[in-house]
This record gives sequence, C-alpha cells and structure tokens, in this order.
Amino acid sequence: MTARKIDGKAIAASIHEEVRLGAARLREERGIVPGLATVLVGDDPASHSYVKVKRRACEEDGIRSFHHPLPEDTSRETLLRLIRDLGENPEVHGILVQLPLPSHLSEAEVIEAIPPRKDVDGFHPANLGRLGLKGGEALFAPCTPAGVLELLGRIGVGIAGSRAVVLGRSKIVGLPAALLLLRNDATVTLCHSRTKDLPAVTREADILVAAIGRPGAVTADMVKPGAVVIDVGVNRVPDSSRKRGYRLVGDCDFEGVSSVAGALTPVPGGVGPMTIAMLMKNTLAAASRG
Ligand code: NAP
Repeated sequence: MTARKIDGKAIAASIHEEVRLGAARLREERGIVPGLATVLVGDDPASHSYVKVKRRACEEDGIRSFHHPLPEDTSRETLLRLIRDLGENPEVHGILVQLPLPSHLSEAEVIEAIPPRKDVDGFHPANLGRLGLKGGEALFAPCTPAGVLELLGRIGVGIAGSRAVVLGRSKIVGLPAALLLLRNDATVTLCHSRTKDLPAVTREADILVAAIGRPGAVTADMVKPGAVVIDVGVNRVPDSSRKRGYRLVGDCDFEGVSSVAGALTPVPGGVGPMTIAMLMKNTLAAASRG
C-alpha cells in the first residue's frame, strides 16, 4: 500500500480563503475588522520568525494586526498591564502571547491573564478545561490540534467510533488533540514517554497522531494497515546537502509508514500550514462573536 499524501498546504489555503471572505463579510455587514494582537517578549529568532509569519497571514486574510514587541527584561507588571489593556481594547479580538517567555515570567500567569473570549491560541485553562467536558463549549481549541481535526474532517475521515491513538501529551498538541478526538466520539488512547509496548498500542489505531518531537520514531511496524497517520512532529536533522545545513522531518519514518498507512501527512506541508490557518479562523470567530 502507498499512503495517500494529505496536502495540508492546499487545505490550509482554502481555509485562508474562507477567512478572507468571512472577514470581508463581517466588515461589510457589521463594520467589524477582526484584530489580532501579538505580544513578543525578547529576541529569540525563532519566535520572531513565527510572529512574522502570523502577522503576514493576518495581512493576507483581512485581519488587522497589532504588534507589541517587548524587551527581554520586561517586568511581570508591564506585561500583565499590556494584556489587561488589550483585553479591554474593542479593536482587539484575539491576543497571542508568543511562547516561550523569558524564564523570569510565568507562562501560566500570563496565559491566565488573557480573557478566555480573546484566547485565540486556546491555551487558557478555561478553554482547555471545557474541551474535556462533555457538552462543555470551549470558545477556542489550540490551533495545531484543531488543525489536525480540520484535516481529518476535510479529507472525509470518519472519527466517530474509530480507535484513535495520540503520541505525546503536551498541552499545546497531544492532550488537546486527544480531547478533540474524544469530543468527536473516537475511542482514544493517549501515550507518552512512560507508555509500555508502544507499537502494540499504536497498531490498534485507525487514526494515529504523532506529536513527540523524535525524528522517525514511528516506524512501519507500528502502524495498522490502512490507518490515517497525522504527523505533527517538526524536527531538524543535519543535512549537508542543504544550504542551511539541516532539513525538517516529522516523527514518522515517512517512506516506511507510507508503505503501510492509508493516508499520511508530509513534513513539511502537512499539519504545519494548518496551525496558522486555524489561528486566523479562531480570530475571525472571536471577532464574529463581537
Ligand atoms: P513536548 O512538549 O516536548 O511533548 C512531547 C511529548 O512526547 C511528551 O508528552 C512526551 O512524554 C512524549 N514523548 C517523548 N518521547 C516519547 C517516546 N519515545 N514515546 C512516546 N512519547 C514520547 O512537544 P510538543 O510541543 O507537544 O511538540 C511535539 C512535536 O510537535 C515537536 O516536534 C514540535 O516541533 C511539533 N509541533 C508542531 C507544530 C506544528 O505547527 N506543526 C506545532 C507544535 C508542535 P512525557 O510527557 O512523558 O515527557
């Protein structure tokens, strides 16, 4: 079997187009321009480039972006005051604090200062908690796992009643991915570094989501024939043939898993583009709620 390659780039492009249309309609019918505030503390180059990509997406999708770069030594009080001001600003519908924060700032405290209705990253405990409550309406789901569910939906994978296995239990990806699959009536197993006999568990999966950050950790023998495999991992491996000296790979051994799975996301070009698309979608939803 050669797995169908799931084109996350194309699916993300159609979501951006839907957001563009939705933002234009909101402006026309209700005079609301969706706004996203990005808060970036410090000089981490990776964080700078992530925020740049997010701001560019805002521009392309008709979302106003309010950027707040702050020095590395920003005090807790200054940051919390800014978040409070953004929370009260009616032109700002979503607030994104780029993580990680410098070590003198508490991520938990900063995330909890964001009003849940503006928490477009979906990391506030009120939103994360509601994801886990049957019937509880979370205002936002974290963008990467929301992107995983969106991919599954758009390629027509039936989630209800399926066996889903998620590798990794971080609050950014693994845990919310498992909660979202559960909300959609999959029977879910959530694995982590202490899980025993991982291959026996993963071979049960109709849907396998890998989010552990270990290049090539998921091999063909761990996959049930025909399974849908979503590879969230983004890992740098040295590659002297590339100008930058490395290439990006996922958590799956792509060739091996392709020979067994029914469908598989590539890295790059799978889940990655979905994360930004879902951020734009969440921001539009926040603005639409008013
Ligand atoms: P993380 O916070 O480091 O969490 C990794 C998780 O994997 C932990 O729960 C850990 O278990 C588990 N784990 C590690 N080694 C394992 C093993 N050998 N077997 C089973 N479980 C194992 O990472 P993260 O932030 O969730 O990110 C995971 C990957 O997704 C990374 O490659 C990251 O770059 C990528 N990512 C991609 C996107 C995107 O937009 N595509 C967004 C976010 C993250 P313990 O809890 O027991 O330690």
